[in-house]
Amino acid sequence: MSTSYVTHLECSLTGRRYPAGEVHGLSEAGRPLLVCYDADAIAAGLDRDDLAARPAGFWRYREFLPVRRPENRISLGEVTTPLISLSPAERGSGELLVKDEGRLPTGSFKARGLALAVSMAKELGLSRLAMPTNGNAGAALAAYASRAGIDSVVYCPDDTPEVNLSEIELQGAVTWRVDGLIDDCGRIVRERTDEEGWFDVSTLKEPYRIEGKKTMGLELAEQLGWSLPDVILYPTGGGTGLIGMWKAFAELRAIGWLDGPLPRMVAVQAEGCAPIVRAFAAGEEHAPRWEGAHTVAAGIRVPAAVGDFLILRAVRESGGFAASVSDEAILEARAEVARRDGLLLCPEGAATYAAWREAIADGRISPRERAVLFNCATGLKYPLPPVTRRFEA
Ligand SMILES: *Cc1c(COP(=O)(O)O)cnc(C)c1O
Repeated sequence: MSTSYVTHLECSLTGRRYPAGEVHGLSEAGRPLLVCYDADAIAAGLDRDDLAARPAGFWRYREFLPVRRPENRISLGEVTTPLISLSPAERGSGELLVKDEGRLPTGSFKARGLALAVSMAKELGLSRLAMPTNGNAGAALAAYASRAGIDSVVYCPDDTPEVNLSEIELQGAVTWRVDGLIDDCGRIVRERTDEEGWFDVSTLKEPYRIEGKKTMGLELAEQLGWSLPDVILYPTGGGTGLIGMWKAFAELRAIGWLDGPLPRMVAVQAEGCAPIVRAFAAGEEHAPRWEGAHTVAAGIRVPAAVGDFLILRAVRESGGFAASVSDEAILEARAEVARRDGLLLCPEGAATYAAWREAIADGRISPRERAVLFNCATGLKYPLPPVTRRFEA
């Protein structure tokens, strides 16, 4: 079946419309384009029982996605990621769940966004994709692009974990180290794209990664029986996931599959790179670049986000907040959950746990609230503490 329920694309700032079925980057206003769907047609063409019978993984939500032709849906064996409850000890009576995105292909939720971006690139006939990355996005791009027979080029900050550089290169992307941060890498891609004939798949600079990330929201709602938690804590870099989930909830409401209040969205950042937290506190609509960004949580080391206003808007509309945690708190949180619950979080996921603890302690989150934390990558991709105990045999 060759269909899509996409009606058009829309500039997230000005609302200006753009036709579907063409190659698009940013809008003329330099802002992200969002994909719009015919909600009535989705509601008429799909019911929840049909959906329940489909194979696991995000391609089951195809009516909510822009890919028209089934042969363009690039797949590497996606799973529905589990919701794992953390033990209640000292944690009040509220339920605390971790959505473990580390089980996806290439070990992170970047698979969702890049599977969609690459599938759409294939559908639109693009053959060379480029992006800046702190690691996980590059790995997902490399894997899905190789799978699709599309070339990819990736620029990484010098201090990207070695394992990420190696996995990206091994999975087929031409991989460059850059003596700078993620936005320096972004500038290099931008400057070279035209002469090299690349298409820039940087976060929110093309319209489809967000559609992939949106499936986190669809999947979460389905897993919870078409209901949502009270609070979602999301490790926020470029913010695609948070913006995407907020979009998913709006679409589910539009087709009548969700009612009742939406979750409070909490954007979690690291103290060494917290532009969204600063802008939230100041009541600003945009988040100026954070100078000297540093944190162990490489996935959220994003000094400036093109979709800053969309993140802030979703957080405010939802009645949520933005919070930052120290690297020390992140590493302690990782150790605590690993030891107590047997779950090895990535530092970004650990940041959401640290933020949850702090918010429970000062009352921003009530212990009666059901909270979901996003663990966006497998903990195994990151430098881990050494073992020093020795036994002489
Ligand atoms: C990319 C990434 C993030 C940030 O995701 P955004 O949706 O871009 O904000 C968080 N954690 C990990 C592990 C990541 O790879």
